[in-house]
Amino acid sequence: MVKVAILGASGGVGQPLSLLLKLSPYVSELALYDIRAAEGIGKDLSHINTNSDCVGYDKDSIESTLANAQVVLIPAGVPRKPGLTRDDLFKMNAGIVKSLVTAVGNFAPNARVLVISNPVNSLVPIAVETLKRMGKFKPGNVMGVTNLDLVRAETFLVDYLMLKDPKIGQQEDKTIMHRKVTVIGGHSGETIIPIITDKSLVFQLEKQYEQFIHRVQFGGDEIVKAKQGAGSATLSMAFAGAKFAEEILRSFHNEKPETESLTAFVYLPGLKNGKKAQDLIRDNSIEYFSLPIVLKNGSITSIDTSILERLSPREEQLVDTAVKELRKNIEKGKSFILNSSKL
Ligand code: NAD
Repeated sequence: MVKVAILGASGGVGQPLSLLLKLSPYVSELALYDIRAAEGIGKDLSHINTNSDCVGYDKDSIESTLANAQVVLIPAGVPRKPGLTRDDLFKMNAGIVKSLVTAVGNFAPNARVLVISNPVNSLVPIAVETLKRMGKFKPGNVMGVTNLDLVRAETFLVDYLMLKDPKIGQQEDKTIMHRKVTVIGGHSGETIIPIITDKSLVFQLEKQYEQFIHRVQFGGDEIVKAKQGAGSATLSMAFAGAKFAEEILRSFHNEKPETESLTAFVYLPGLKNGKKAQDLIRDNSIEYFSLPIVLKNGSITSIDTSILERLSPREEQLVDTAVKELRKNIEKGKSFILNSSKL
């Protein structure tokens, strides 16, 4: 029996994410929290005839929301608008995540915390430093959700193969492309590093390989532009977030993961193989990176570094570029907590 809480459940991401998790057989109780409208959304979803209970809580009921929660997803915060980068969101979303993670530390200290709010590269360090300060930090329990980058990479890779040669493209199945591509690094622009693990496809893409990389890195901008001021990815994010959460939930039930290389943005120094990852990234000061994770009972037990051992020269270049930007993003999040006087 697993209780899942969604903080920010009334938003563009939160609502479809809540719906998808209401449909999940792995959830026994779904607790929805927001500063507005979550009670109504909870009531609405509670009429769906799946076996989980679903309750929406008002803004003063964070303690009841989190009581006994084993998985907490956080899509609370302001989304990107035209002209706003993910990093611009920092000031607005840093305080929100800090206060929500403080509540998690108080009322659900053993929960797995899945940070969706942006900028992930800075907000995961905020979550980690907040929990560290409270003496409640467990490195295997805090994850930045970067799965949308993988979902996009799987889609775009087939799209480009189709463009190049429909005969090759038609042989591929978008739903199982995680066998041929993954994404590591961070979750904004050039920190996003798509890795085509089936190198024959790099060869087939030829010049479109660079276009593919760019589209995965900046795919979020397409949505921000197309929505014309109404926000960023919501439905595709909800899909990616629900898929990621389901992998965590499957591991509670000792089921094998569906995705071969499930990745998350994690705190390297606290995890098995974290030091090895830093060595392979060739930067021992980099504390966070998105990499394939190994799960047990919903927590990360180790990082799989094998992908870093077989990077092509172009991929190594992408890692070096990503690390420069990531270091700044991480520092920004850390210092937000370290320079604040009290929680
Ligand atoms: P939204 O504005 O539609 O929804 C945000 C929700 O958060 C609102 O319902 C708001 O009331 C709520 N909220 C604000 N402060 C809160 C608090 N203190 N406690 C609880 N709830 C609070 O935004 P959205 O489009 O749903 O996006 C949400 C976040 O997810 C943004 O930061 C966005 O950038 C991020 N996002 C991340 C990814 C990713 O790949 N990780 C993808 C898309 C969006």
